[in-house]
Amino acid sequence: MRKKYIFVVGGVMSSLGKGVAAASIGTILKSKGLKVTAVKADPYLNVDAGTMNPTEHGEVFVTDDGDETDQDIGNYERFLEIDITRDNYMTAGRIYGAVIDKERNLEYNGRCVEAVPHIPQEIIRRIKKTAKGNDVVITELGGTIGEYQNMLFFEAIRMMKQETPNDVIVIMVSYLPIPAHVGEMKTKPTQTAARELSSYGIQADFILCRGREPIDDKRREKLATFCNIAPENAVSAPDVDSIYDIPLNFEKEEIGNKLLKSLKMKPRRSNLTKWKAFVRKSHNGNKTVKIGIVGKYFATGGYVLSDSYISIIESVKHSAINQNLKPQIEWLDSEEYEKNPRKLSELKKLDGIIVPGGFGNRGVEGKILTAKYCRESLIPYLGLCYGMQIATIEFARNVCKLKNAHTEEIDPKTKHPVIHIMKDQVKKMKDKDYGGTMRLGAYDCELEPGTISYKAYSSLSSSGLTRGSSPRKSFTISERHRHRYEFNNDYREKMVKCGLVIAGVNPAQDLVEIIELKNHPFYVGTQFHPEFKSRPLSPHPLFYQFIKAASK
Ligand code: GLN
Repeated sequence: MRKKYIFVVGGVMSSLGKGVAAASIGTILKSKGLKVTAVKADPYLNVDAGTMNPTEHGEVFVTDDGDETDQDIGNYERFLEIDITRDNYMTAGRIYGAVIDKERNLEYNGRCVEAVPHIPQEIIRRIKKTAKGNDVVITELGGTIGEYQNMLFFEAIRMMKQETPNDVIVIMVSYLPIPAHVGEMKTKPTQTAARELSSYGIQADFILCRGREPIDDKRREKLATFCNIAPENAVSAPDVDSIYDIPLNFEKEEIGNKLLKSLKMKPRRSNLTKWKAFVRKSHNGNKTVKIGIVGKYFATGGYVLSDSYISIIESVKHSAINQNLKPQIEWLDSEEYEKNPRKLSELKKLDGIIVPGGFGNRGVEGKILTAKYCRESLIPYLGLCYGMQIATIEFARNVCKLKNAHTEEIDPKTKHPVIHIMKDQVKKMKDKDYGGTMRLGAYDCELEPGTISYKAYSSLSSSGLTRGSSPRKSFTISERHRHRYEFNNDYREKMVKCGLVIAGVNPAQDLVEIIELKNHPFYVGTQFHPEFKSRPLSPHPLFYQFIKAASK
């Protein structure tokens, strides 16, 4: 079979859910028995997402092979149930860097290296590389039609389409506003975007019509006339309550077979049975489970920027929905607890608390107070990366009585650095070598029998679980990381004596990966990020047990 390429580009404006649309199309094609992968191409000059502030750019998603990527890669993994590698993420910075490196290595044989064709050629080379072992590659182009910085990516699409027109199609995700004073859906902004796109030499094959409501036939006809597409290729994409509804909504219009037809392929039946069952559950949850996320990246002005924690939110949803529960997430600003510790009592109204990953000083004492409150009040607690380090500091200070214990990240001179910088990070920090240099990606963790984590992973198989032969023996899991600091083993013995449970250790480095408390319904902190491996159809075991404990 010839490899097929689908490009998803944005018209009119950003934030239309292009990533979820691309992922949903992937879900549908996969359900037709095709091998599908997805690529994100971002137009900015950052080499990766790791150096960007999550309040500006959203979550930094980490892959098994340690790439710090755009959050859309997370959507692809969740919708396609595949592990994506760094080959599937590119930025303009990465592309330019590669072309300049090649030039320095004389790989262009003395030719003049130019933006066109060499930049698009590098983009195309990378996209085609991901097709190996797959039938279809879906590439989502970041940004919107009309921006200078993504022009060369559009040029790559044009070149590919020109070369093999039967194997390449372009989907434009557009927005059709319904102005309040008119009360009618307007197509003009979409027409303008399609015209701009054709000025690049690219004709959209499909338009996904995002809007408050479904598109009607009259507007379909209009788009067909003015944007030069078949009317049935203007596909409705109205707002939804849950992103997991989207593949099913698209399939109502048989988008899958329409895409195959455009790609000169025979129609195939789709099998979305499991997906449908999950979606049904997502609408029928009977009991609410209230989870509080205590962090700092969402408090900007009057807005809640939940994008900074999208994988955590989705992980909560996966685990709750699969237990027939209705998840409700509340955003709690840890700085508020520093100003007014009495406010902590509001945590009692919640069924479980997550302290997510984070960096730096702001709100850290509030998070430590949160960990203490959850420990003492027996509220289920899940600490992720920084949240594990915070719980360690709290335990050291208040149970082991190590006064002013801290992480070296915040207090480099602390008398009790219970969390300290990893050895190989010291030089990197001194040299300001920040980009892509944390402990990143998948590392093994050996689980201690009898612990909460051990039981959680034993009861649900996912997360690259490789079980030992006997259920009583320790077994090894693999999880993803993103940190520079670690549990200080000089304090391990003392902390264990005080009652801290070390439930998981990385065998190669003897690095503490999981801490727990005994005599608590659920108190777990992980140095890794389980949220990157949860999927709707296979929720992550730790989230699953956390939600289970919370619902009790
Ligand atoms: N700031 C901490 C570290 O670098 C935790 C990082 C995180 O939560 N991702 O180790």
